[in-house]
Amino acid sequence: MTRKSLAITDEIHDYLLCNSLRETDVLRELREYTAGHKMAMMQIAPEQGQFMAMLVRLLQAKNIIEIGVFTGYSSLCMAQALPEDGHIIACDINEEYTNVARRYWEKAGVENRIELVLSPAVETLDTLIADGKTGCFDFIFIDADKSGYDDYYERSLQLVRKSGLIMVDNTLWYGKPADPVQKDNDTRAIRAFNHKLHRDERVDISMLPVADGITLAMKR
Ligand code: SAH
Ligand code: CA
Repeated sequence: MTRKSLAITDEIHDYLLCNSLRETDVLRELREYTAGHKMAMMQIAPEQGQFMAMLVRLLQAKNIIEIGVFTGYSSLCMAQALPEDGHIIACDINEEYTNVARRYWEKAGVENRIELVLSPAVETLDTLIADGKTGCFDFIFIDADKSGYDDYYERSLQLVRKSGLIMVDNTLWYGKPADPVQKDNDTRAIRAFNHKLHRDERVDISMLPVADGITLAMKR
């Protein structure tokens, strides 16, 4: 029995990318542009983006929320997998980052599928709930500030439909939650969040060692 996941060396990672990555030209250009950004490490891994695109298709998703946009790589992966009338509500607070995102969404011709909302995500989610949008979303991706994860998750659980999916990024957070010595606020927040989700009977879960760790939570 294979009892655990393979430790990914640079060599294995290169092999994985060389033998599976199918980026569109615009996705590749955006990834290359973002690589020169001072916060480049915030972008999701390209193989994760490709996995998210597959999930969007599997769910036959039409309505998506993204919490944490940065330069728009993850939103672009999802937008390209949506049908023409699909819609993403993309939440962020940073105009500079998301100006890059807008540029590449336009270049890819999917800007009509993405509605960028520049306000604290909790406010955007609360507005959606107040507007009666509970149960309306097929897929929600949580990837903003880690101390906000629980707030985003609780609201997402209201907004996602039954059997819809919430994907939470960075749930292994450089391995820090597994190391009791690590006590910074972000690590504490993720540790508490993971602990809660393990026991949360409102969802089926799967935590996967993809990139920096992702947790899938499917609403029961
Ligand atoms: N999903 C992106 C990475 C997101 S990085 C990608 O794949 O490239 C995290 C983002 O969360 C940053 O752009 C930051 O501006 C945003 N953010 C931080 N706090 C936020 C808040 N309170 N509400 C909405 N977005 C926030
Ligand atoms: Ca992330």
